[in-house]
Amino acid sequence: MIALPYIFTYLCASHTSHYLGPQTKHPHQYPYDHILYRPVQSCRTCNIPKPARSKHCSLCNTCIAKLDHHCPWVNNCLGQGNYRWFLGLLLSLSVLEFYGAYLSWFILNPYLQTPPGHPFFSAENLSNLGDAIVHAVNVGGLSIAGVGMLASSTAFLPLGLFAYHCYLIWAGMTTNESQKWADWRDDMADGLVFVSSRRAIRSHTMEQQEAQARGQGNAAATAHVKLGIELGLMAGAEDDPDVIWPVDSDQIVVRTNDGKPPKGQESLWRRIWGLEEVENIYDLGGWDNFVDVAMGK
Ligand SMILES: [Zn+2]
Ligand SMILES: [Zn+2]
Repeated sequence: MIALPYIFTYLCASHTSHYLGPQTKHPHQYPYDHILYRPVQSCRTCNIPKPARSKHCSLCNTCIAKLDHHCPWVNNCLGQGNYRWFLGLLLSLSVLEFYGAYLSWFILNPYLQTPPGHPFFSAENLSNLGDAIVHAVNVGGLSIAGVGMLASSTAFLPLGLFAYHCYLIWAGMTTNESQKWADWRDDMADGLVFVSSRRAIRSHTMEQQEAQARGQGNAAATAHVKLGIELGLMAGAEDDPDVIWPVDSDQIVVRTNDGKPPKGQESLWRRIWGLEEVENIYDLGGWDNFVDVAMGK
C-alpha cells in the first residue's frame, strides 16, 4: 500500500505516449463533435491538425491527446493513457492517509480517555480532555501524533479530487472540456448560441458554392461559403472516416457576437438556452465511460 502512490506518481510522470508531436502520426480516436472541437482547427505551435479532445500544453510544449489537465504535482500532462494512473494515485493516497490517521488514533486512543463522571461540555471535562490530548501528543511524538494529524487533515484533499474526477468521468468530459462546456453555458444563458443540423448547413453551403461557380454568387453567398469553411463543413474537412465511435450526432452549434443567428440562414438555426439541448457525443453513458478510462483511452 505504501508503494502504490510512488508507483502511480512514476507512471503519471514518465508517460509520454499521449504527446502529439509534429513527427508522430497519431490516428484520430475521437470524432469531432462540432461544438467543442471542429475539424478545421490546427495547432499553430505544433503545426498539426488538432485531433478531437486534444489540446496544446505550453509547459510540455506539445499537443496532448485527450488532455485532462497539466498536473504540477507529477510535472506532466494527464491525458490519454496516464489519466487512469492519476486516479489510482488519488485513490491510493487517500486510502493510505485515512489508514495512517486511523493507526495513529488507534495507538493514541488509550491516552485520550478522560475520567468519567463529568458531562461532555463541562469545564472540568474539557480541561481533562485538553490535558489528555497534550499527553497523547507527547507520547506519540512527531512520528505518530504528527503524522496522524497531518494525514487526517489532508486525506480529504485527494479523496475530494477523486470524487470530482469520478463525476467528470460519469458526465463524459475531461477537466478541459468541463471548462469549455461552462463557457458555452454562459453564452447560452446570454442568448448568443444557435444550433442547427450539419446536414442542412452543409447542403446550404454547397448550393451557395455552386451558385458562385455558375457566376450567380453575390456577397451573401460568399459569406455563407466562408462560414461553411470556418465551421469545417466543406467536403473533405468532415470527420476522419477511420474514427469508429458508437455515438453520433448531426448537431452543430455556433456562438454569435450580436445574439442574432448567422445572417441569411435565420431559418436554419435555432437559439438554445441551456446545455440540456445539446448532445455530448463523448458521453457513452456512466459505466462505459469508466471502462474507457480504465482501459487507458
Ligand atoms: Zn500543439
Ligand atoms: Zn503539460
